[in-house]
Amino acid sequence: MSLMEGMLHIMDENAKAQGFGRVRTVILEIGKLAGVEVEALRFAFEAVTEGSIAEGATLEIEEPQGLGWCVECERESSIETRYDPCPLCGKVPLAITGGTEMRVKALDVE
Ligand SMILES: [Zn+2]
Repeated sequence: MSLMEGMLHIMDENAKAQGFGRVRTVILEIGKLAGVEVEALRFAFEAVTEGSIAEGATLEIEEPQGLGWCVECERESSIETRYDPCPLCGKVPLAITGGTEMRVKALDVE
């Protein structure tokens, strides 16, 4: 829920700063390695936004691919989980370089 609370906070701050009254679309960026259940997030979104400036808003979720850097191969590869070995040499662990994003990317407001 803390991501959602943070999201509401960001929306409120933006609403004050920019003077908009309603949020039409919220675009979240949730990396595949962020450990967030996207379906649960969608479910929580409705409950959390009820009665807020984002009530009834559309939720869009972008899920950047997980990326890991291998020091042996000096290459970055796509990975499904943060414990995946390097697909080229099998080394673990890789340095996670992408897919852990968890942020409000954009708001479409009116
Ligand atoms: Zn490697």
